[in-house]
Amino acid sequence: MSDEWNFPKGDLMKGKKGLVMGVANDKSIAWGIACQLAAQGADIAFSYMGESLLRRVEPLAASIGVKHLIECDVSSDASMDDAFAKLKDIYGEIDFVIHSIAFANKNELQGSFVENTTREGFLLAMNISAFSFVDTARRAAELMPNGGSLVTLTYLGSERVIPNYNTMGVAKAALEASTRYIARDLGPKGIRANAISAGAMRTLSLAGISGGRGLHAKSGQFSAMKEATSMEGVAGAALWLASDLGFSTTGEVVHVDAGFHIMGLSEEQEG
Ligand code: NAD
Repeated sequence: MSDEWNFPKGDLMKGKKGLVMGVANDKSIAWGIACQLAAQGADIAFSYMGESLLRRVEPLAASIGVKHLIECDVSSDASMDDAFAKLKDIYGEIDFVIHSIAFANKNELQGSFVENTTREGFLLAMNISAFSFVDTARRAAELMPNGGSLVTLTYLGSERVIPNYNTMGVAKAALEASTRYIARDLGPKGIRANAISAGAMRTLSLAGISGGRGLHAKSGQFSAMKEATSMEGVAGAALWLASDLGFSTTGEVVHVDAGFHIMGLSEEQEG
């Protein structure tokens, strides 16, 4: 496990099995969440995108006792079929899924939303970043006869205009709305669905957004707490939502951003 973070140990996830989707490297939000869930006793399988990532993901998985690595491209029905069949073979039943996946073409994440958004790019972002959670929820629910928890990652660009976030902001709005509809459909089965709206964090995804580094710095500077979002905070929220602590919370978008989203004016604007 990374010694960069300090995750509380315990047994809140003891006896719970599930899937963490979206570990690309040791900066991934999915990785921080996996470390926290493992520190609380969860039995975890990872899904990863493509052979090239496997070399990076394998040693990370081994370091926290994750034995099952499943290749999965969420934009392919065949790959999703295969991945969930493997998950069923491994566990039979599961208790949680962490969906930490998004993608948009780089040219859609810069400049003018109106000028730079293409039909193809818009649909690609929607497919991978929003529809994939609906598809995951449907497949995961079949493996959750005793209820469970689905958690996805979103960002404030769904609610407010964040320069350059563009198409991804629209996809995140669809993801958040999907979370509410999933929560309604699967609620009677004891399956909860929630989204964590994390503040800007320095990951591969952030690097893909034009001005991403500046966004990270400003988010810390202008947040209510005057600090950047911590991995411990995001992973702690995921632990709450994935564990039984999260009973009765569903359809929610939980902001974990050091209070960046509540600010109306920055101190600079206040004068
Ligand atoms: P990341 O690049 O580490 O993770 C993104 C993951 O998506 C990668 O593992 C990548 O392999 C996966 N992915 C992309 N296309 C895929 C596909 N077709 N099939 C399967 N997997 C695919 O970056 P991250 O910041 O950890 O992103 C995780 C989630 O958190 C994303 O939904 C992102 O939008 C969200 N988020 C990030 C931030 C931030 O500032 N980094 C803030 C809020 C929300």
